[in-house]
Amino acid sequence: MTLWVIWFVDRRREIEKLATLINPNLIPTNDASVVVLIVVGVVLLSMLGAGSIVLFSWGQRQTSLIRQQRNFVSSVTHELRTPLASIHLAYETLASRDLPEATRQKLLTMSLVDIDRLIRLVNQILISSRLDRGLNMFQDDIKDVNISEAVNDVIKTLTYLDEKIATRVRVNADKGLIWRGSLNAFNMVISNLLENAIKYSPPKSDVEIEAAITGAQLLVSIKDRGLGLTPRDKNRIFKMFYRSSEAAKRAIPGTGLGLFIVKTTLQQLGGSISVDSPGLGEGSIFKAAFPV
Ligand code: ADP
Repeated sequence: MTLWVIWFVDRRREIEKLATLINPNLIPTNDASVVVLIVVGVVLLSMLGAGSIVLFSWGQRQTSLIRQQRNFVSSVTHELRTPLASIHLAYETLASRDLPEATRQKLLTMSLVDIDRLIRLVNQILISSRLDRGLNMFQDDIKDVNISEAVNDVIKTLTYLDEKIATRVRVNADKGLIWRGSLNAFNMVISNLLENAIKYSPPKSDVEIEAAITGAQLLVSIKDRGLGLTPRDKNRIFKMFYRSSEAAKRAIPGTGLGLFIVKTTLQQLGGSISVDSPGLGEGSIFKAAFPV
């Protein structure tokens, strides 16, 4: 812009001569009108600059959204294909061979686990789409929730991630701790956070869950000794479809919807979520605040 002002002042006479050639009736400018012209020029240039910046950042956002959606489609395809292939194989074996009862039962149980995985994936997609559209899903579901029992129930639903999950997760909550709110919302938040704590940690490593009512909030923290997060990822992981490059590099399955669901669910309740991690490889602690 400075260069343009210098150029304009320097070339003013030539520009005026050119203008009078085009229109001989033009009245030559005085110094005051030159200042006005410069001010108008500066304003127009600033608007052009601001517009370019807005367009550039919008373009950047679109590019990153398209990239994330592509990643999402490829992870969903993978997440669908793996359990479907294993169900197909199990049923092919069941249909074609005379198997001992124990093997039949084992194959059926494995298929059920795979079907649960598929149902969970489809539910995640449906729920995130509803939350993204701003639909309130929890307002009619208010009751007294025993926190310790609810957390232990969530742990049981995640045995498909690790059969020994109950021995890995330590729950530190008063047995009589009651929170009045939506059990569905509570389960949604805790199951996603706990699933991640298991998924992004080495096998057998401990996960600690602490819950207590502090002031007007039920605070639940979930601490793992896993992959950890870079400062850059800490600011991004709650966005829809976002997956850290470290998670993708290690081929840890996922769709980038879990933490988006956690954040929007808590927002609907009037609560919040935060995360802390000393760095990559140093574990993470997620803190969910539910309003009392
Ligand atoms: P998904 O796990 O399906 O990829 P999420 O939305 O649950 O999607 O998580 C988004 C990203 O946040 C993950 O891909 C992972 O990179 C990071 N993340 C989430 N939880 C943890 C955790 N406990 N430890 C390390 N990284 C995590």
